[in-house]
Amino acid sequence: MVDVEMTAVKARLEELANAGSDVPEVLRERIGGGNPTNLAQGREAQAVALETVRVMHTLAQQALAALDRLADGSFGVCLECETPIAPKRIIAAPWAARCIHCQEEGHSSHSMAVAA
Ligand SMILES: [Zn+2]
Repeated sequence: MVDVEMTAVKARLEELANAGSDVPEVLRERIGGGNPTNLAQGREAQAVALETVRVMHTLAQQALAALDRLADGSFGVCLECETPIAPKRIIAAPWAARCIHCQEEGHSSHSMAVAA
């Protein structure tokens, strides 16, 4: 276990996980708020909303996984190389499952959500 304020980390992860469950509401607001007669604007709003949902959903999944790791005691250790993750990375991105080195070497499809 690393020397960070775990209570604060856990609270942040729970907040992120809960934010992910509110996604349908966000989607409705973004899409439903547009003028239905303006298709171009509607499509753009929908694209933005879908991207928002994608990022929030990914982050929520990562936060839930991090909470699982907190529960089973493996939190704070890189999933790839099993090196302790730097405390400042945990504080900046508590949902991060990998150390900065493995994160940079891995595929970057979730880079927006996990960038620290
Ligand atoms: Zn690593």
